[in-house]
Amino acid sequence: MPELPEVETARSLIADQALHRRIVDVDDSDSYVGRPHSPGELRSALTGRSLIAAHRRGKTIWLETSGTGDAAAPGGPEIGIHLGMSGRIVVTGPDGSVAEGGDPHRYEARPRKAEWSRFTLMFADGGSLVLFDPRRLGRVRLNPDIGALGPDAAQVTPAEFRRLITKGTIAVKARLLDQSKIAGVGNLLADEILWQARVSPLARVDSLSSVQVNRLYRALKSVLESAKAKGGAHTGDIIAARHPGGTCPRDGAPMEHGTVGGRSTWWCSREQALVAEQPRRGPKTRAG
Ligand SMILES: [Zn+2]
Repeated sequence: MPELPEVETARSLIADQALHRRIVDVDDSDSYVGRPHSPGELRSALTGRSLIAAHRRGKTIWLETSGTGDAAAPGGPEIGIHLGMSGRIVVTGPDGSVAEGGDPHRYEARPRKAEWSRFTLMFADGGSLVLFDPRRLGRVRLNPDIGALGPDAAQVTPAEFRRLITKGTIAVKARLLDQSKIAGVGNLLADEILWQARVSPLARVDSLSSVQVNRLYRALKSVLESAKAKGGAHTGDIIAARHPGGTCPRDGAPMEHGTVGGRSTWWCSREQALVAEQPRRGPKTRAG
């Protein structure tokens, strides 16, 4: 599933290869991916315009569009794109060259079906931009509400992180997945961050010590850097241990499995044991 690093590859692909190409037609016939818009609505809103900038916050991409050619025409709507669980952006150049970004190679082995192309911008130069999405959980909509998302995980400051992570009583893993608090962390990155920080996914956020919050912040940054450098969230250190019988790559302890925040979760039974994370009410930790 595309998390922040994969979505960033899709955004940068659009920024590098899809801007300033005039849109001459739009296939928005998939009314599920295009909800709440009706088929034809995206087409009439976008035909005649060009993409002029590609932005991202967390796992949401949004694209600015130009006016329709008349110098006096105002800029067009923004296009929001979410890659869902399996989406990729496929950009075809004027020369027929194809470049892709997004969900990493999970579907490469299977023959591609035409209906997996859920949304298409056709350019005047003969090329196109396609949202390719086998599982159909991606989404395209006009003028997305970016304000509903928390700060981007790659940009969040230590002070923002502390404030957004520690409020309430929810399990820390569920909080890391909450895109309205911090945007961009999905299931694999969350487990990797918790493992790096040696924090139980089940720990209540109000039980986290100052030291643990600092470790989580440093782990967030290093896990994002590493995933970006290595090509995605699936390159983390505990990926190979996410199975029954898997052992922690740091100390060899058995990995534990459970459902936290509604998602399949793996953690080190020794270093991430919940018992070490109980709230301590003494004056020493309250100050921190
Ligand atoms: Zn361990």
